[in-house]
Amino acid sequence: MPMELFPPEIEIIRKRVKRMTLRIRTEDERIICTIPWYVSKAETMEFIKKNTPWIEKQKQKLQQLRSMQIHREPGTLIFMGESFRVISVPNATQLGIVNHDERIIISSINTEDKQERKDWYALQAKEVLPPLINEHAKEHGFAFKKISIKHQTSKWGSCSVDGSLHFNAKMMLTPKHVIHYLIIHELAHTREFHHGEKFWQLVESCCPDYLEAEKYLRTTGRILEM
Ligand SMILES: [Zn+2]
Repeated sequence: MPMELFPPEIEIIRKRVKRMTLRIRTEDERIICTIPWYVSKAETMEFIKKNTPWIEKQKQKLQQLRSMQIHREPGTLIFMGESFRVISVPNATQLGIVNHDERIIISSINTEDKQERKDWYALQAKEVLPPLINEHAKEHGFAFKKISIKHQTSKWGSCSVDGSLHFNAKMMLTPKHVIHYLIIHELAHTREFHHGEKFWQLVESCCPDYLEAEKYLRTTGRILEM
């Protein structure tokens, strides 16, 4: 097989696949292109060229994540939209102590264990959310039945017909203004069940910058990982 020379930022993987696929490797932002054995260099370059807008968009997304420090590094946790250094103390509780000023968490958690991270976020949610929800409910005159914290894949929160509020533990990764909006959103459902005009008017009256939070959830929120 002749030597194939591709630009240095592109890595070609030839495999027994049916179609060409592209991805951007997070660590070094290299373009990884997987192609079937029989595809020529010219065809590959054409494919990459065609997908340049997508590639640029992915790169921008990565840079955005980095600049916002929500790309988790070992020994750290993303909490309320910021990166915290974790000081592991075996005899501390898993919930631990969160120092917002110094951005330090002192906890027994092993940050490199995904299940432990998920448990930690659920514990934090149970600690942080109820007082916040009560406060916002009181301020805007909402009544709810009970609060539950879950691990959900597709939803940030929901409100049952009986007025019970459910929240996704993952929301503890999002900034405070987003947490505020998610709480208002579900509280507003206790009065307006559907996403109609009245619902959004109510949300806006309690959370004037809700569109910004919505935008965060549609963009950054989709790539956040516990
Ligand atoms: Zn809703």
